Amino acid sequence: MVKLHFPSGQNYDCVMCGRGCESLWTIPVEDHVVERIEKHPLGLRVINENGAAFSKNEEGGYVIHYPDPAQPRCGFLAPDKLCSIHAELGMEAKPLTCQQFPFHVTETPDGVYVGVSFFCTSVRENSGRPLSAHEDWLRQLMKTSIRVTTIEADKVLVAPDRHTSWTDFVAFDNQLRQRVQDQGLDLSAQQAIAVTALASQQNPVNLAAGWDQFELEEAPLGGQLASLLETALFALVKLFLHDTSPERIEPLDAAYASGATLDFPEYGWTGTWFQFLRFQDQAVGDNLEDELDRWADMQLHRKSLLVYRSLLDNLWMLALIPRFVRCTTAFFARQNGREQALLEDYYRALEQAEMYLGTNGLLPSRLSPRFTAHLMELL
Ligand code: SF4
Repeated sequence: MVKLHFPSGQNYDCVMCGRGCESLWTIPVEDHVVERIEKHPLGLRVINENGAAFSKNEEGGYVIHYPDPAQPRCGFLAPDKLCSIHAELGMEAKPLTCQQFPFHVTETPDGVYVGVSFFCTSVRENSGRPLSAHEDWLRQLMKTSIRVTTIEADKVLVAPDRHTSWTDFVAFDNQLRQRVQDQGLDLSAQQAIAVTALASQQNPVNLAAGWDQFELEEAPLGGQLASLLETALFALVKLFLHDTSPERIEPLDAAYASGATLDFPEYGWTGTWFQFLRFQDQAVGDNLEDELDRWADMQLHRKSLLVYRSLLDNLWMLALIPRFVRCTTAFFARQNGREQALLEDYYRALEQAEMYLGTNGLLPSRLSPRFTAHLMELL
């Protein structure tokens, strides 16, 4: 029997909040699901109400239709926040993504790694039973249908067109985890980016050997990578502003570069970036570190560094998401007129990060190549 690896310390049981169904995801829907539901009275009802039950994406596949993207809500979500496909046709009639949410399954040469999305209310609150309690249900689902990402033994994508072996990746990953324990995530992720970028320029790629170039506690590239990440963080903050026109962004860029006053009326913040970072320290402090460590542990456990895009692209997000979450948590506190951030501010920030920057978010594939191009100029 295939071995399933569950992370320790992470719990989950659905609390039926329906939050995932009221968010603007691109949820693929299999053709046979569309065919069955569109012929059923439930499907006809949703088509009558919303004009359509499913839409086509750019690649021509079916996805869940949101009649009003500004207020996303799956047409099949009933007023009691339960799924009407599940209620009327059964669990197996739902699209695969919906059946297995919040689980992510990655098949590797060493077995199957099971993880969960921090977008889920229960996961982020760490409530319910340990993940391993869901093993029987998951094995049952794996017999019929499930979305699995498969990592091949000799084809681990390190950077575009650059591969290494699974064995090399595991040695790299073990060292990364050890460093996260010894020196924290921020510095370890920076070192991992540098190791991966340098290894991708060699032939053959040897990721694990690259760690020998960096002593513990050593900032790679003399701190230049840390500066690049700060600039990347500011670029991310701008993406989430209400107005992203050149008229708004160009003065912000100039103020950031010269250390002058920045104006973020959507968050009620006026001050220099340095002053904002001081405010963030005071509003958030170390309060999120245990939560962000749990988030990072999950990304490493479920092999999200190898999912959807290259290791280098995903490492940027491992380094940036905790920074983005701390910063956005502080902004949300300020938006609500508070000097101290609350858990609800963190949850809002985490939701944005998971939705747009997480492994299946829309932004990493667009942003990471730009950061990589800057990094290559530094190497
Ligand atoms: S977000 Fe999580 S807890 Fe809420 S309904 Fe979905 S699976 Fe259940």
